[in-house]
Amino acid sequence: MDEIIAKIDDSEILCQIDKIVPFHGYLSTGAFIGLQMLKIARELLDIKEGDRVFVTCETLNCLPDPFQILCGCTVGNKGLKVLDYDKMAVTINKGAEPGQDHVKGVRIFLDPAKTAQYPVFHAWYMNERKVPHEEAISELIKAGDNVYTWKFVDVPVPIKAKKDVRICTDCGESFVSKDGSAICKGCSENL
Ligand SMILES: [Zn+2]
Repeated sequence: MDEIIAKIDDSEILCQIDKIVPFHGYLSTGAFIGLQMLKIARELLDIKEGDRVFVTCETLNCLPDPFQILCGCTVGNKGLKVLDYDKMAVTINKGAEPGQDHVKGVRIFLDPAKTAQYPVFHAWYMNERKVPHEEAISELIKAGDNVYTWKFVDVPVPIKAKKDVRICTDCGESFVSKDGSAICKGCSENL
């Protein structure tokens, strides 16, 4: 892997890799894809260092991690949403201005019609055979933006409703009731 990284001449990407490796555990192909997707979104949406960013990742695998460590998008701060679709796709938008109910975002996906031009990487993507991360990432560096397809999307800004805090009639613990329910979700699922 060090040999591959040594060939990268983009100092920003090298700095990002230095942050991702200890956070994710190693430089996986999926984490590198997230890094490239973020680079594309930064250019398309004019995202500057320090801008609040919101990301929806369509897989639990690898892809969410670069956004957590590089843009501070976490599940807890609502900057990161993860959909368990097992798709290599993300939707990224900046924070809304006051009064905006929609904000411009971009959905980017790893396009199999385009990865086909990079047979080693395509074999990794389609899981046709075991391809080491070194080889897959090496092809991704060559490909750059060429394996991604994106389109601009309108992202609705969530409305902040007052939290309906109640005491669960079953367990006696407090919870936020979403639909006027008197029983917490934990208890209702174990009924
Ligand atoms: Zn309860």
